[in-house]
Amino acid sequence: MRIAIALLLGMLASAGAQAADPIALAFPVRCELGTTCFVQSYVDHDLSKGSRDYQCGSRTYDGHDGTDIRVLDLGMQRSGVEVLAAASGRVAGARDGMSDISVRSIGKAAIAGKECGNGVVLDHDNGWQTQYCHMARGSIRVKTGDRVTEGQPLGQVGLSGETEFPHLHFTVRLAGAIVDPFAFGPALDSCKSGGRSLWARALDYRPRDVLNYGFSAVAPTMELIESGDIKNNPPNRQSAALVAYIRVIGLQKGDEQSLTIQGPDGLFAEYAAPALESNKAQYFISSGKARKASAWPPGNYAATYRVTRNGAELLRKMFDIQLD
Ligand SMILES: [Zn+2]
Repeated sequence: MRIAIALLLGMLASAGAQAADPIALAFPVRCELGTTCFVQSYVDHDLSKGSRDYQCGSRTYDGHDGTDIRVLDLGMQRSGVEVLAAASGRVAGARDGMSDISVRSIGKAAIAGKECGNGVVLDHDNGWQTQYCHMARGSIRVKTGDRVTEGQPLGQVGLSGETEFPHLHFTVRLAGAIVDPFAFGPALDSCKSGGRSLWARALDYRPRDVLNYGFSAVAPTMELIESGDIKNNPPNRQSAALVAYIRVIGLQKGDEQSLTIQGPDGLFAEYAAPALESNKAQYFISSGKARKASAWPPGNYAATYRVTRNGAELLRKMFDIQLD
């Protein structure tokens, strides 16, 4: 009897392991995570109206069923960032031809039923599937039925379908059900519940990330930062303004930010933002001055950005510029 039960349990265990045989995923974008690309949103682990990521954090939104990997700005997207097959498999479907344009400009009706935009679906062994969305028009390099190998370029990151910023929406499914590649195993309605990563290499969870930062001769706007055009306005000693800016993702309600610039003659400019009243998917602040004298003093201008909560520092970024 005991032997029979042991055998039965053994069979169940092996059947379970087979059904859930984990896949190992390569990172699906050719970029350096944390430097040139960032996870903007994880899979939603709250099946009701709220939202929470696999770490019980706020880096997701209600109903989000994939991982959003964003690049620095539109300039980087236009330069061509490759989307890569996360694992070997066969192309189950592909679409190209949709415009690279923010859904804010064209509206949801224009992309109804094609929210993924230009994209690719790959079938892998054991019922695993990966999907790649919002890719660049004219960039799709594979067609239905093609065999692909892990790391093979499928196309490029774009701005097609239901998206407002250049990113890859990456979906993982097992037997048709959504899987969070950062936390495979437990039910999707739980967080911090011991799921295992499917990524072939360790990927850290970071509640907040700095995307863009620098100095500018013009007043920064979100549009200038998102387009990358802010970088076309570097300051010099004769600039009408000298401003430091920084854009961060994942800021949370209650976060306090400051941006201070030390110039050659001491404190140059300082801005302390009020504590945030809500979570922010992305946010930027700036600090600086308009020129009154004939030229800015020559030397080094060093910016320090800090995020604090109740006096505890959560994030710090320092950057500087030399004006001669
Ligand atoms: Zn997404």
